[in-house]
Amino acid sequence: MNERHAGAPGQVKEVTSLANPLVKDIKALALKKFRDQQNAFMAEGLKLVIDALDLGWQIRTLVFAKAGRGNAAVEKVAARTVAAGGTVLEVSEKVLVAITRRDNPQMVVGVFSQKFLALKDIRADNGDVWVALDRVRDPGNLGTVIRTVDAVGAKGVILVGDTTDPFSVETVRATMGSIFAVPVARAATDAFLAWRGGFSGLVVGTHLKGAVDYRSVDFSRGPVLLMMGNEQQGLPESLAASCDRLLRIPQAGRADSLNLAVATGIMLFEIRRGALKLEPIPGQQ
Ligand code: SAM
Repeated sequence: MNERHAGAPGQVKEVTSLANPLVKDIKALALKKFRDQQNAFMAEGLKLVIDALDLGWQIRTLVFAKAGRGNAAVEKVAARTVAAGGTVLEVSEKVLVAITRRDNPQMVVGVFSQKFLALKDIRADNGDVWVALDRVRDPGNLGTVIRTVDAVGAKGVILVGDTTDPFSVETVRATMGSIFAVPVARAATDAFLAWRGGFSGLVVGTHLKGAVDYRSVDFSRGPVLLMMGNEQQGLPESLAASCDRLLRIPQAGRADSLNLAVATGIMLFEIRRGALKLEPIPGQQ
């Protein structure tokens, strides 16, 4: 290690060695065990890190490539990190490649504290939409759902049962930054069902055997809770029975079902249709 300044948080260090303990800790965040131990996760890209800071996420470490030295935006983020009590590492290309496991890494990586919303703190007002994902397994699906929830202005995601980690590198990448904008709660199925008992709005599940066409429902009154099933097994009976309605998206062709994230996107745009007032496209009024 080639240190520009010495050790404590709030200082800038120059690191070129993969054996540096700080680099080892960040690399370890690729594994859930170490993410949980450190209660931390990694996000790549300058814009993402700026958005995260703007949204009040706690940054622990900012890593930037040597090439970022002198870049005004990078230096500003570094100053914000130091002001927040975090550590700033200026690293070689080799170290950045090792941390991100990418051949062409972004110039900036941030390590943040994880944050989950407690179920009891969810307030569902009229117009609010929450998405509950039953045992979602695929990080790409989870990240895409979080991104879509953000895009339609829904309120957040509840992870039910044993799910993939919202703070894995793959999920965070797939959210394209929306991990910082969308509250995520998690609960065992029993705790979720108990919480659902107190949910005052419309609870709809999506199911391949759903009797109701998703386009026939009036979503405009009260909050909505949308339940989506596991990729392989769909919604289990216990969750399906707790829904006010089970909805189906009609399909043509030979596919058995839609991809989970695609089905969630279709549902969310339908539920939020009245709330999404797009500006007319120029020349098409
Ligand atoms: N084999 C699974 C099953 O039997 O349900 C397929 C699950 S599908 C890949 C994942 C989830 O997406 C489903 O549980 C449901 O929530 C939703 N989904 C997919 N296609 C759907 C459709 N046509 N209508 C309603 N929900 C659908």
